[in-house]
Amino acid sequence: MLKLKMKKCVYCKQEIKDDRAVDVCDKCGVGVWGERMFKAIIENMGNAREKGDLFQGLVNEDLQKSLQEKNFNSIKIK
Ligand SMILES: [Zn+2]
Repeated sequence: MLKLKMKKCVYCKQEIKDDRAVDVCDKCGVGVWGERMFKAIIENMGNAREKGDLFQGLVNEDLQKSLQEKNFNSIKIK
């Protein structure tokens, strides 16, 4: 069966079970950004859906860039 909503970590391809705004698992997120930064990213990305945040732009831009590169590669190979 296909689960269309299942997300996978862009780094390790592990399934992500919660409904977070970034496709990165806890392990990789902490490994890449550090625990505090990763938490802030998750929170900011989540909040950003509803309200415009001052901090969000900074984190978002940087994060999106790296995510897009990783995503792009894995999608193209398929
Ligand atoms: Zn991962």
